[in-house]
Amino acid sequence: MSRNTQLFERACQTIPGGVNSPVRAFRSVGGTPRFIKRAQGPYIWDAEDTQYIDYVGSWGPAILGHAHPEVVRVVQETAVHGLSFGAPTEGEIEIAEAIAARLPSIKKVRLVSSGTESTMSAIRLARGFTGRSKIIKFEGCYHGHADSLLVKAGSGMLTFGNPTSAGVPPEFIKHTLVLDYNKLDAVEAAFKEHGQDIACIIVEPIAGNMNLIKPVPGFLEGLRALCTQYGALLIFDEVMTGFRAGPQGVQGLTGVTPDLTTLAKVIGGGMPVGAFGGRADIMDHIAPLGDVYQAGTLSGNPVAVAAGLVTLKLLAEPGFYEQLSEQNRKLTEGLAQRATAAGIEMCTDYVGGMFGLYFCGSVPTSFDEVSTCNTERFKKFFHGMLNRGVYFAPSAFEAGFISGTHDDAVIQATLDAAEEVFATL
Ligand SMILES: *Cc1c(COP(=O)(O)O)cnc(C)c1O
Repeated sequence: MSRNTQLFERACQTIPGGVNSPVRAFRSVGGTPRFIKRAQGPYIWDAEDTQYIDYVGSWGPAILGHAHPEVVRVVQETAVHGLSFGAPTEGEIEIAEAIAARLPSIKKVRLVSSGTESTMSAIRLARGFTGRSKIIKFEGCYHGHADSLLVKAGSGMLTFGNPTSAGVPPEFIKHTLVLDYNKLDAVEAAFKEHGQDIACIIVEPIAGNMNLIKPVPGFLEGLRALCTQYGALLIFDEVMTGFRAGPQGVQGLTGVTPDLTTLAKVIGGGMPVGAFGGRADIMDHIAPLGDVYQAGTLSGNPVAVAAGLVTLKLLAEPGFYEQLSEQNRKLTEGLAQRATAAGIEMCTDYVGGMFGLYFCGSVPTSFDEVSTCNTERFKKFFHGMLNRGVYFAPSAFEAGFISGTHDDAVIQATLDAAEEVFATL
């Protein structure tokens, strides 16, 4: 029995499903998850010392490549001075200043330890600030696993949704309206009917949790205008796209300014850090200044903050994002060309350090459209690539990620493997 299989069987004895986050279990592609022993730059190695080119990047954080020497050095140096104090530190000011300096919409920011915490807190703040209860989210966008966000659309437009998890009482999601991504008409209709009760819209301004789906022109601008008109807040969930899609997230790319932004992933450089921030008049409603309660024992953890801060510093080096998206272009165009040459219906899209691979005829713009892609073909592609030492996300509904260490040789090795795999599909 292989070492990965041994470890997986052992894990399943004491960890539900053998994993601490469901997608890691390979359920949607089948097979045995690889247990990872170490990682460096664009590579990861599993328990059998098999090397893979990694396009998951810890689901986004590893934008500098794994175990960047500067980040590792800072973590080690910081850890020597103590792991956590439960009292304020200078590093927290520095990272707050670094975030506020780069994201135009953020004047004040509060640190938490995960993306889930950041979206949950931002929504509570939006409700506290507006005194309203209802929220709008979009089908296929993921905002962490808080109760009120685990909901899918009901049968008709403007009906309230159904929980997507057992353990979420219907009462807990009765204030959540679920609408189709990129369909502004439905948002307008929702505001016409419920406008005075809607606290906020939460949206992935470029969606990365239903594969990669970009907003159509006018969608984000329309959300902004409707929120302003009806006195609701616009929350950009940039947990994935923040410092990943571009140096100032999607707000920098589009010029659309949200009232609140949620962050995590890249800003922790691989350590648990999340954040939410925005307009000062809104942020001042959080405790201890205001009456919206929010807290965390390990919030602003000094070692995690140090890793995030040095990551943000390294990302500010001139040309980093230009180079990143150039490599991403070579990867995604190269994959699409090879698929076409092999007669495989497949297309790709990318932005900054994120990409999408779609086994369908044209780049999708909504959850419904992406759901029509050929998942059986994706599974075969995934395993073919894995067998050739290339690790893509084990699901057809996740974005892919590249890092600053995915150089030409790494991309070429990926394209060579893909050419072989496409010939077998
Ligand atoms: C990953 C993700 C989250 C949840 O973050 P966790 O740190 O896993 O809790 C929320 N929103 C978006 C857009 C994400 O990609």
